[in-house]
Amino acid sequence: MKIALFGAGGRVGSVLGPALEAAGHEVVAGGSVGLEGCGAAVDFTAPDAVGTNVARCVAENVPVVIGTTGFDHGAIDRAAREAGVPCFHAPNFAQGAVLMMRFAEEAAKVFPRAEIVELHHEAKRDAPSGTAKATAERMGITPSIHSIRLPGLVAHQEVIFGGPGETLTIRHDTTSREAFVPGVLLALEKVRELPAGLTVGLDAIL
Ligand code: NAP
Repeated sequence: MKIALFGAGGRVGSVLGPALEAAGHEVVAGGSVGLEGCGAAVDFTAPDAVGTNVARCVAENVPVVIGTTGFDHGAIDRAAREAGVPCFHAPNFAQGAVLMMRFAEEAAKVFPRAEIVELHHEAKRDAPSGTAKATAERMGITPSIHSIRLPGLVAHQEVIFGGPGETLTIRHDTTSREAFVPGVLLALEKVRELPAGLTVGLDAIL
């Protein structure tokens, strides 16, 4: 499939572009060329850029797989619904992160006291991370979220539960951006089958 990749030169995009080509897709840089012939688009840019990119894609009937975090889900959902085009967003495309969120949801049923520590590279613009917010939402409680931005980190999260005389820590570490590739490939395979509007979370397509 021909895919328009927005953010092709970024930290994630520069890993994703060659990986999509290795998987048999044709990749064109989203920002610089037209969308003619594209079966889907992928956006790993910035919260203030993703809205314009998605609006352009849905206006041309091109579904979008969105990796960018920290944007207004409601606005993109409305734009995609009005255009009658499916879009998909996962706050975290790593398979281990999906499991971490599932396990945290399960543990919260037993341990109602918990806090989340999310740690990312220093250039990450949004805080708390989309993954931390999605985890908290799924846990059904309101855990404090602590955000750490330092050089040397990629993307990491701990959910720490505390009860009388014990703690439980669920931790996920992304050590390389290759971790996001299988989830994006899966989303590209499924996005056209989704309803018009924005579907959120890898769990919805696994
Ligand atoms: P990055 O290294 O800063 O790369 C962002 C890319 O987007 C750059 O190529 C940048 O181009 C481009 N860009 C920025 N503004 C743009 C605009 N207005 N129009 C077109 N292109 C624009 O960031 P990253 O680390 O790759 O992360 C990108 C996004 O993905 C962030 O929101 C991050 O939180 C998110 N993310 C999500 C996941 C997930 O699993 N969902 C995983 C990792 C990251 P220039 O360099 O030319 O500005």
